[in-house]
Amino acid sequence: LRGVVALDGPSGTGKSTVSKKLAAALGATYLDTGAMYRAVTLAVLRAGVDPTDAAAVTQVARAAELGMGTDPLAPAVRLDGADAEPEIRGPEVTAAVSAVSAVPEVRELLVAMQRDLIGSAIDDPGGMVVEGRDIGTVVVPDAGLKVYLTASADARAARRTAQDASDGRGSDLRSTHADVQRRDALDSGREVAPLRQAEDAVEVDTTDLDIAGVLEQLTKLVES
Ligand code: C5P
Repeated sequence: LRGVVALDGPSGTGKSTVSKKLAAALGATYLDTGAMYRAVTLAVLRAGVDPTDAAAVTQVARAAELGMGTDPLAPAVRLDGADAEPEIRGPEVTAAVSAVSAVPEVRELLVAMQRDLIGSAIDDPGGMVVEGRDIGTVVVPDAGLKVYLTASADARAARRTAQDASDGRGSDLRSTHADVQRRDALDSGREVAPLRQAEDAVEVDTTDLDIAGVLEQLTKLVES
């Protein structure tokens, strides 16, 4: 799929910021697949279900009504008819999302939904930028461009802390560092669609780059 840019990598690599900016610059639509796993997790927590109870989580996921906006300038996530931001970014959801996203039936459901959204956007002349953990490996293995963003653990924890602060959530570097490590270990170690770099993905190490620097590299890759 020539029009699809798949952006994968662990948290704190600047993936979300860069994906939105790249989509806006290309005139493309944008899909935040992490927001979908977060919205299902919010539904699980609201239902009072244990995030590690796969059968109960699956039930909640099937009943949840997700709505994904794909405008990079106003990305919107709706759960059961109401805006789910900023709740899906909060610490409770962040702590539980890796358990929910390890449930095979949840992935099956969300991957199907993602392929529908991507399929209907594909005729768009600008294409679509899709960010996540398994976009290049599972969701769109034939994406026109696959990028895998990395950064040192220290850089990723620092960025997450800064993001939390700018979103008005208090957090300290040490606990964020631990959280980023824990989530990456869970995301990389799960049985279904673990976080890994697709063989044909271009790796971009963002440790010493600012957002503009990453965008410059990605724009070059898109144009090449
Ligand atoms: O990207 P974000 O940090 O919002 O993703 C939240 C979580 O959703 C990840 O830690 C991962 O467990 C899950 N996820 C996933 N597959 C994706 C996107 C996100 O498993 N494609």
